[in-house]
Amino acid sequence: MTFTTRFAPSPTGPLHLGHAYSALLAHDMARAANGRFLLRIEDIDHTRSRPEWERQIYDDLAWLGLAWDATPMRQSDRQDTYRAALNDLWSRGLLYACSCSRRDIAAAVSAPQEGAEPAFGPDGLIYPGTCRHRYPRDRDFPPEGMALRLDMAVALNALPQPLSGFAEIGPAGVLPGHLVPVRADNLTSSVGDIVLSRKDFLGSYHLSVVLDDSAQEITHVIRGKDLYDATHIHVLLQAVLGIQTPVYLHHRLIRDEQGRRLAKRDDARALATYRAEGLTPLDIRKKIGL
Ligand code: GLU
Repeated sequence: MTFTTRFAPSPTGPLHLGHAYSALLAHDMARAANGRFLLRIEDIDHTRSRPEWERQIYDDLAWLGLAWDATPMRQSDRQDTYRAALNDLWSRGLLYACSCSRRDIAAAVSAPQEGAEPAFGPDGLIYPGTCRHRYPRDRDFPPEGMALRLDMAVALNALPQPLSGFAEIGPAGVLPGHLVPVRADNLTSSVGDIVLSRKDFLGSYHLSVVLDDSAQEITHVIRGKDLYDATHIHVLLQAVLGIQTPVYLHHRLIRDEQGRRLAKRDDARALATYRAEGLTPLDIRKKIGL
């Protein structure tokens, strides 16, 4: 299969040096492998995505000298796919409706439980299961306007074969890599019943990223270490949805002088700021050690 990778920014703020690192690394590895570099606009969360940030993504990437090998995919065009997957999971009894707010969850997990500290997973507090048996699951389709959670224990039980894991490679020069096991007991205790469709928009990051990587035939997912824990969820979802697990590379994160991870609000390190100050794409490559 042709080496195919992607850059998948969310248009919720300016791209910064960390994004440049991800995009350039993925692009360079695709070119070195004679493969394909694709772009995906992750605008599933319409409450936070803005057209002006999407325009700036195209400007910044063009300025960096990056070109992609197919029309960019936009998550906002893929509602039907997300809905079909949710309907399928619902009909298999793997989802349940949830009406808890963040505050409800925080209150439920902070209730005294023999002194146990509330546990956090990749999506925040691990859901205590309040709604697991609260609403009927035997309707033909999932209810509208409610969050839908994956019943993790049921999903794990329904897997046709035990989970294996994912292959993690290093950047060119450090290849090949190793198998990272994904353990069912960890998913139950450290991830729990994650949201696969949000109350305020259809689908969720975890669901869409897995479906989109599959639709774009991504063989290598190259992204930051901050998403390493999420990959364990993605491997589970791939198994549940019958999707092949790609190879992963979780790269180092670009940090500021104080060692903090760069964030979208960190306008000082926005690519557009450096560009306005007269830096060149080569200067950016040097800055991030590429
Ligand atoms: N859209 C995510 C972000 O901007 C990246 C998701 C991914 O690469 O899987 O952080």
